[in-house]
Amino acid sequence: MDQNIERMLREINTLEKKVNIMEVCGTHTMSICKNGIREIITENINLISGPGCPVCVTDNGHIDFIYELALKENIIITTYGDMIRVPGSNPEISLGKAKGMGADVRIIYSSIDAVEIALKNPDKLVVFLGIGFETTIPATAAAILEADIRGIDNFKVFSVHKLVEPVMKAVLSNEELNVDGFIIPGHVATITGVKGFEFLENYDCYSSIVGFKGEEVIYGLFQMIQNIKNGNKKVGNAYKSIVSKEGNKVAMELYNEILEPRDDVWRGIGCIPNSGMKIKEKWSKYDIEESFPYKEDKNRKISPCKCGEVLIGKIKPKECPLFGNGCNPINPIGPCMVSSEGSCAAYYKYNT
Ligand code: SF4
Repeated sequence: MDQNIERMLREINTLEKKVNIMEVCGTHTMSICKNGIREIITENINLISGPGCPVCVTDNGHIDFIYELALKENIIITTYGDMIRVPGSNPEISLGKAKGMGADVRIIYSSIDAVEIALKNPDKLVVFLGIGFETTIPATAAAILEADIRGIDNFKVFSVHKLVEPVMKAVLSNEELNVDGFIIPGHVATITGVKGFEFLENYDCYSSIVGFKGEEVIYGLFQMIQNIKNGNKKVGNAYKSIVSKEGNKVAMELYNEILEPRDDVWRGIGCIPNSGMKIKEKWSKYDIEESFPYKEDKNRKISPCKCGEVLIGKIKPKECPLFGNGCNPINPIGPCMVSSEGSCAAYYKYNT
């Protein structure tokens, strides 16, 4: 083992008090499981998964809505690949199942691909499923701008984008959860900058912006543990090579021009004020909700999946009675078992 990593681990493992540290992002959960980090750090540090997997937090109702849309005539749904297998309010509802029933559902690798598809299919309505946090919101805004510049009017977006700050505040205000510190997703901070997380300094918690490789996670933990020992609640930046103080102002200006915050529902968590992003009135001709309004069906049957509790760190994946017992990556019941960033998938794959 690299000497620096050994030295950092020694320091981490001298922590004498028990702390709950939440890794907000699913990619961190994957890295922690893959690199066996839980197994090499002191039991005093309880690493818990958080609500930062965009696929996992997309509400069942939103999946049901896009599934129903996919089954309509003359509509092409475009989506990033992760969303294909995500179940809605029951495992029989997903974009993959709609495709199997003949719907035109296409996987794309860039939001601009969706605009190209719209250009090539003028007689169809092309809907792009806009998903993700601050990292992917700029790409959705760019696609809308591109469609506008090219005068394409058969392109629309269903925005289920989410913001990180409101959900972190919701976690902090939940007295049941008791989170002492956050491992902050480095890619979100690339956009928001350190500034975007300084709200945490108003709370009684520690935090560090962290990269995703195993050694970067250890460095982030090392920095946070030092801060815990020194009582330093300033937001730490353990990803300085990528994350600046101010972030990417061009990207933020782009998405703030086209989208704005709205109250939004998170799977299994419920509605969090100003936590979603909707298309602004000025750009509403690109908003699918203008033609097909989304209405939450409060009476719909909810699957027995406990992703909501997993996503706020209330339970660990293995505490869900369905984990490996009806729910597995081949037959997922909830999105946390589907997504490459899902906590349940990470715990299942690496058997931690
Ligand atoms: Fe949901 Fe399956 Fe995870 Fe249980 S194990 S919380 S059913 S994804």
